[in-house]
Amino acid sequence: MIQARYREFLQRITKESGLQENDIDKRIKQKQAALGGLITLEGAALIVASELGIKFDMQKVKVGELMTGMRNIDVLGKVVRVYPVRKYKQRNGEEGKIGSFLVADETGSVRIVLWDTNHISLIEENKIKENDVFLIKKADVRGTDIKELHLGGKSAIERSEDKIEKTKITFALSSSRISDLKENDRTAVRATIVQTFPISFYPSCPECKKRLAESDDKYYCTTHGEIKPKFLPVFGFYIDDGSANIRAVCFFESLKKLLNIEEEQLLALKEDSKSSDELRDSLLGQEFMFEGRTRRNALFNRLEFVINSASNLDIDKITEELSKEVGLS
Ligand SMILES: [Zn+2]
Repeated sequence: MIQARYREFLQRITKESGLQENDIDKRIKQKQAALGGLITLEGAALIVASELGIKFDMQKVKVGELMTGMRNIDVLGKVVRVYPVRKYKQRNGEEGKIGSFLVADETGSVRIVLWDTNHISLIEENKIKENDVFLIKKADVRGTDIKELHLGGKSAIERSEDKIEKTKITFALSSSRISDLKENDRTAVRATIVQTFPISFYPSCPECKKRLAESDDKYYCTTHGEIKPKFLPVFGFYIDDGSANIRAVCFFESLKKLLNIEEEQLLALKEDSKSSDELRDSLLGQEFMFEGRTRRNALFNRLEFVINSASNLDIDKITEELSKEVGLS
């Protein structure tokens, strides 16, 4: 079944590109490998098609096949949640609006982000409601860890008579309210950083990353014995989504993403508290989609959210990219 679908894609790309089927097949497999084998062959085929500028008419993609970089694709989805329209200040000082809702099909769920005022008015006029089915046309996939479908002026939202009986809400794409979080939940929350604490560094084992014990200026790993430590950062802060707030904690990898800096730069903060404080101040008031899990901090007997990844919902940046694409700037 899956093979048949891949063959169909392969033949289509071959026909439309005029290239050899072997070469296309190879290129798709290389693409799949380059992406760490994390996507299906069909998913890789869709990316190669889009790289070759091939527009599938049937470029109707299942939500579970969405890959960052895909453009002008169509997705049929059932509305699972509609979010309030948000206002934001553009760089030029004018007020902008952004609308969003979550759709799902039987393979997954994805957030639809609306930038066009005509589309946003559909939400404002209550014309997009839960359980409605829409064909989203000519949308672009954005986001790294958490994929989103962005709609600009060229895109369309058409009501569909098609039925979607089963929907699958994918972990990474469904966000929880902080007030609903329970111990050991793995989920995503969309929230704003409201308070930060100084970034601190702890001695870790360069071999196994475990926290080291210190004694007489020497450091010991329970597995590797006495060892020269690598100091790794830990950053605590509070996030708030309007329902509640929770203490969040970021370690090395997730902190790189949160601060959007390189490893060396991050490690250098250990000796540079001025930059460190400036960086954490700059995070205040910023909104992110945080993916992670909740754990009980036994010492303080409180629930904490340990972050695996953070995607900045930097509206200015996305707007800028979008306007470039449509030639506005
Ligand atoms: Zn070790």
